[in-house]
Amino acid sequence: MIKVAIIGYGNLGRGVERAIKQNEDMELVGVYTRRTPESVQTEGAKAFTMDQLTLKKGDIDVCILCGGSATDLPTQTPEWTHLFNTIDSFDTHAKIPEHFTKVDQVAKENQTTSIISTGWDPGLFSLNRLYAQSILPVGETNTFWGKGVSQGHSDALRRIEGVIDAVQYTIPNSEVIKKLKAGEQLTLTTRDKHFRECFVVLEVGAEEEKIREEIISMPNYFADYDTEVHFISQSELDQEHKAMPHGGTVLHTGITHKNTKQVIEYNLDLQSNPEFTASVLVAYARACVRLAKEKQFGAYTVLDIPPKYLSPRTDEELRKELL
Ligand code: NDP
Repeated sequence: MIKVAIIGYGNLGRGVERAIKQNEDMELVGVYTRRTPESVQTEGAKAFTMDQLTLKKGDIDVCILCGGSATDLPTQTPEWTHLFNTIDSFDTHAKIPEHFTKVDQVAKENQTTSIISTGWDPGLFSLNRLYAQSILPVGETNTFWGKGVSQGHSDALRRIEGVIDAVQYTIPNSEVIKKLKAGEQLTLTTRDKHFRECFVVLEVGAEEEKIREEIISMPNYFADYDTEVHFISQSELDQEHKAMPHGGTVLHTGITHKNTKQVIEYNLDLQSNPEFTASVLVAYARACVRLAKEKQFGAYTVLDIPPKYLSPRTDEELRKELL
């Protein structure tokens, strides 16, 4: 049995608790939180303080870090890699090289193994970009996200004065995807690839038109996109928009000899982003334990992991069943 600990219990932490129940070779030792353990509502797992985790060295095969990428993981992953093998889903793309270097140093110094930035993007989408670009070097890769809820954009809406609650959907431009698949050469701007749709609940007295203008002109978030804004009631938002669907497509269009068209498409359609991401983390946790047993210490990303290390099945079974 692989003994797993969850560090941080939000959407992803709950997803990991659920995913472990579907993997017979894994056992959840506990949930470790910065809050008082009694205040954390798990689905059966015991919750403990972070101090209690330090006493568990030797009793845990791998810790799955479920904190947020903005402020938790940059410090938590290096910190816990001092003592344990770790996995995280760090998704601030531009800062991944820096995060990798930090975790790699700690892991090598302390003879632990860490797989960072797993999940679907970064994660499975990164792997598919690598396969596609290596196989069809003459070609172009485009990634489309959605339809799905972007937590970052939803948070940005909620920070606007006069907004009580909000949800933002990222929607890929299906016409553009169709044209690319048909082999059309397109020069695409940010605006061409995705739309944004916002559902916003306002305080009484807040001015709709003023807030709509503030949203669609917000730099870095909405200004570069065509954005639709709908004002709705809190009860409608709670009923219709509190699920966390997501997904997307990595589309690579390439050519081989004499302009022969070749299309590679990898698509995810997820009813629950955190539950799916958690399932990816759990599979990579298995790979992490295997690397650690082989004394392959240091940091890794999904690009470094042999695919068979994700599976609980033997090499022989995999050769027989999957090839
Ligand atoms: P949450 O905000 O739900 O949880 C983050 C942390 O906040 C938890 O670990 C928890 O730590 C704390 N927390 C959770 N709920 C509460 C609460 N009610 N009150 C106070 N603190 C709370 O984030 P998610 O789980 O949704 O996402 C985690 C990260 O996963 C995201 O930042 C994102 O970067 C990443 N992600 C990556 C993906 C990928 O494909 N690579 C895809 C999806 C997400 P504690 O228990 O210690 O308080």
